[in-house]
Order: sequence, then structure tokens, then C-alpha cells
Amino acid sequence: MHSDQEVNFLCDQNLGRLAKWLRIMGFDAEFMPFWDRAKMRSATSCGRVVLTRRKKMVDQKGFYVVDDDNIMNQLQSIEKRFHLRSKRRPFSRCCICNIELVSVEHQEVHDLVPEYVYSTQETFAKCPSCRKIYWKGTHIAKSIDFINRIGGKQ
Ligand SMILES: [Zn+2]
Repeated sequence: MHSDQEVNFLCDQNLGRLAKWLRIMGFDAEFMPFWDRAKMRSATSCGRVVLTRRKKMVDQKGFYVVDDDNIMNQLQSIEKRFHLRSKRRPFSRCCICNIELVSVEHQEVHDLVPEYVYSTQETFAKCPSCRKIYWKGTHIAKSIDFINRIGGKQ
């Protein structure tokens, strides 16, 4: 696989937490709540990689078997396999909807976030689908810390 190519994912029903973290890191990661053959077929035909815990899928084209229960190890192995480290764009994507965030004007969020957030934060982004507002507050700092701890040289 060419290293500057964009990689998109489809996570199986056992990898919901992984999907959420991939999104937080800025990667396109769809989630399927059950083993959905049609969904997997259409995903792989578009070049999307299916991430699964099912070991028997190991030799299937378009599949990558995640062979670890630990979220940190899962992220590490996927970043390594698909050369993702340099492509991280934390907090560019909604972790619930898997949609890219759009930036919003400061005054636009006045009634949508707590007062102390409004007065202390400058940069806000919004999910065009669920309308969740994101800002670089403490929970984001913690997540960045978590992402940095994934580590691993490539
Ligand atoms: Zn959303």
C-alpha cells in the first residue's frame, strides 16, 4: 500500500471503541453493529478496510484482523500497518457520527456551551450532523495525551 494514500475503515461489532478512537484521531472509521456481509462487500469494493476480531478472516482481501483486546495496542498495530502516524488529525471528525467537523464562529456557540467554556476557549468546531460542539478543553487535552502514549516508531 502506498503510504500517502488515504485509508478508510469499517469496524466490526466488537470494535466500537476502536472506531471511536480512530475518529478522534481524524480517521474515517465506520462501525457496523452486527456482522453485515452486504455492508462489508460494499466497503471493501470502495477500498475501505474491514477491521475485525474474527481470526478466520486473516487471509481475506480487504480485511485486517485486530489481534489484541487492548485499545492502545489495537491503535498501535493499525497505525503501523497502514502508516497512519503522520496522518493523524485529532479533533477534525465527530467521534459519534464519523463526519468531518466544521469550524464555527465564537459568538455562534454562546448559547450552546457552558459560560466558562465560552469565556476561556477561542476555537470551536461543530458536527454538521449531530450538532455537537467541540473545543480544545481538558477532555481533549487528555485525549491528546492518550494518543501520544500510543507511541511506536514507524
Ligand atoms: Zn456528530
